[in-house]
Amino acid sequence: MEPIHLAELKPHELKEIALKKPLILIPIGTTEWHADHLPVGVDNLLSQATCNDISARTGCVIAPPIPYGICKNLKPEEGYFGTVDTINIETLASLLIDLGLSYAKMGFKKAVLFTGHYEPDHWEAINSAILRSKNIEMVMLSAFDFTKDKIQELDDVEKTWPFAGDHAAEWETSMMLHYYPKLVDMSSAPETIELNMPGIPKYLHKRFPRRASKIYGQELAETVTSGGVKMINQLLDSTSGAS
Ligand SMILES: [Zn+2]
Repeated sequence: MEPIHLAELKPHELKEIALKKPLILIPIGTTEWHADHLPVGVDNLLSQATCNDISARTGCVIAPPIPYGICKNLKPEEGYFGTVDTINIETLASLLIDLGLSYAKMGFKKAVLFTGHYEPDHWEAINSAILRSKNIEMVMLSAFDFTKDKIQELDDVEKTWPFAGDHAAEWETSMMLHYYPKLVDMSSAPETIELNMPGIPKYLHKRFPRRASKIYGQELAETVTSGGVKMINQLLDSTSGAS
């Protein structure tokens, strides 16, 4: 099956799908610096690619993506060129709540907020929307949720596989090599990505983009997609049970 995008549906098609599959996927990314070998839209591109795969296997609709988020960690004025400056936590939270109201009016009962960005303040904005949304049940998902069991010996920075989750290093670069190979320039990949930021786990402070591979990306993408499909089907089951 092909992924289903809300923007491509006619009203009657949308009505039918919302009735059959009352769960909408909302990809949320950020636009920010991802080293010299990756485009600035990585977080958006990967959340959209994952939602495409999940939609193709579940028949759920994908909402127009939200390309901006909370990016306090990699500010443009600190040398992270290409980052779209952070928006306020409340701006993102309010936008999500407002969108939830509209999607509820279309017949959707649940919204899965699929984020490709992992900054704590970004998650705070999404969680705030989840807590305050009254019209639709919101759930946050990220690739992390499906690769947790593949994270082992996190403090051993010599290991790559089964690493899951990083910024512009082996994990994100591999996912990009799988989904968007033409957008990756491995010849400009730095030896290491060093991000000593408060709030991110120590094992992410230093990672190694050149260890990335298409095969690793394919394995990660399959893990994330199959985990996502399982979770979305459970959410759909509980929706039909409740109504
Ligand atoms: Zn990223």
